[in-house]
Amino acid sequence: MNSRYRQARFHIGVADLLQLPPDDTEEVAVAGRSNAGKSSALNAITDQRALARTSKTPGRTQQINYFALQDNRYLVDLPGYGYARVPPDISRRWLRAIGDYLHKRRSLRGLIIVMDVRHPLKEFDCQLLDWCFEAELPVHVLLSKADKLSRGAAAATLQQVRRRFNEAYPEDSRPTAQLFSALKKTGLDEVHRRLDAWLYPPPRQA
Ligand code: GDP
Repeated sequence: MNSRYRQARFHIGVADLLQLPPDDTEEVAVAGRSNAGKSSALNAITDQRALARTSKTPGRTQQINYFALQDNRYLVDLPGYGYARVPPDISRRWLRAIGDYLHKRRSLRGLIIVMDVRHPLKEFDCQLLDWCFEAELPVHVLLSKADKLSRGAAAATLQQVRRRFNEAYPEDSRPTAQLFSALKKTGLDEVHRRLDAWLYPPPRQA
């Protein structure tokens, strides 16, 4: 277990983009449709039971939550999107806010998008992928709840998603993807390596 992430502590929750901490941090944001398993993924990544609240009631009051690592580095839990019972205009407003954040936040080093392995690449997921491409922001996709599929079916989905990325994005700005299960704790090393590469890059050779 990577101890950098175990140290994560709740720092601040903000209701809109005007209240974000100063834009002089290093941060990785985590996004996903409601119920995709984002909170469970954050808890697994940080080896904590209740850092991010897993919800039996998706769509509850939404905010952007900052979890502090050391040295001014943060994991940022973005509001879930696409929940059917949230009125469409509110849902759209949140999505636009996320889009603004992705485009404007200079501290942002990368975005993790959590997608249920049984329902990947829904409309809003693809919207986020396109915005990140426009903003030249690297993306890593967690295909969550991999334990819900057979090993073969999960591997086939991963391959399909990667094929879609190969077709849609040039190599130097192509999203990466992996299988993940918060329940079985599989895929943790891979996501930790990705976070390390974004938040703790090795110093550049002179
Ligand atoms: P969020 O709305 O994206 O934050 O999703 P949650 O983390 O609250 O998870 C939504 C539901 O999926 C909950 O009932 C979780 O217990 C379940 N879930 C999340 N991750 C996994 C997983 O890896 N495997 C299984 N089987 N269920 C999961």
